[in-house]
Amino acid sequence: MDLRSPLTSFLPKRLLLGPGPSNVAPSVLAAMASPLVSHLDPFFLKIMEEVQQMLRKVFQTSHEMTFPASGTGSAGMEFCFTNLIEPGDEVLICVNGLFGERMVDMASRLGAIVRRIEAPWGQPIDPTELESVLRERPFKLVAVVHAETSTGVRNPVETIGRLVHENGALFLVDTVTSLGGMEVNLDAWGVDAAFSGTQKCLSCPPGLAPVSLSPRAVEVAQNRKHPCPSWYLDLFLLRAYWGKERAYHHTAPVSSIYGLHEALRLVLEEGLPARWERHKQAHLRLCQGLEELGLEFASEKGHRLWQLNAVKVPEGVDEANVRKVLLERFGIEIGAGLGPLRGKIWRIGLMGENARISVVERLLEALGEILHKQS
Ligand SMILES: *Cc1c(COP(=O)(O)O)cnc(C)c1O
Repeated sequence: MDLRSPLTSFLPKRLLLGPGPSNVAPSVLAAMASPLVSHLDPFFLKIMEEVQQMLRKVFQTSHEMTFPASGTGSAGMEFCFTNLIEPGDEVLICVNGLFGERMVDMASRLGAIVRRIEAPWGQPIDPTELESVLRERPFKLVAVVHAETSTGVRNPVETIGRLVHENGALFLVDTVTSLGGMEVNLDAWGVDAAFSGTQKCLSCPPGLAPVSLSPRAVEVAQNRKHPCPSWYLDLFLLRAYWGKERAYHHTAPVSSIYGLHEALRLVLEEGLPARWERHKQAHLRLCQGLEELGLEFASEKGHRLWQLNAVKVPEGVDEANVRKVLLERFGIEIGAGLGPLRGKIWRIGLMGENARISVVERLLEALGEILHKQS
């Protein structure tokens, strides 16, 4: 490497249409490049307060305990499980993709007794099946991924929420890919614990994990037999910093929080319904273009995400080569399949800033040219 060249002099320009991160608005990048203040500066405490207020609006919740945990989306997942689960707890986890599997892994590591309810990758969780399992016995917690980024499937969170509450369990939802791209309404759906990530439909760089816990969830954490095994993610230590006490816990990532502040401001300035509609319209334009190219979806009709489109690789097409050419010649990134879908699908993300007709048309044109040459 040339030690005289700053990184910014040789960065590539990419259109990020994979499963995340997505592209970031210039004003978010500018916010993150701003000079620092101390994380205990009265100005910064005001910024933290505003971020919390905006997050409550985007999550559609009145939960006091709503803030961005330091770390990526998976840290948010870990925050929820680590604070709510103790060894021996009975937990039910919905699994129809990679992120459901990840929740099973986390809950198991914490000593929970995990019962799984599954659907094949590409299909949603069946609420009727869930209902019969929930009738068998009480669970402490039921977890589901709202938008399964590994398969492009939306799970019926609202219906599942009603069943979970009849059982009396806490309801935990992964909203990493849904928040900012489709409706998320924690209060209306009775969600007790939710986590998200900044780099998907919020169009902010990776590094923070918005989380929200209901008063009932906070009470469950308060009544633990043993303290939370994680010091860094302990809800009560974090509450002392994000709440009224403002007690130092760890140094907040100041620049990341500046970025999130600006990203949330953009979300709310646009308005949630308008933003969801923009994601929907971009998806519909993509559907039309893919059909014209003779491509098919891998996710079940009626349960497809707007912001993450799982597309079958046609017979005889070298899927990795298509992604390589897209990146090298057109500067466009799309995602590969994971797990059982590896080599079989492409994952096209139209998240946040990229959920636009012009972006979709740029992709379709490039994809059309590449596929035309390959066939
Ligand atoms: C991306 C993602 C995660 C993990 O987020 P990281 O930021 O990669 O840690 C969790 N759940 C879902 C549904 C995701 O799409």
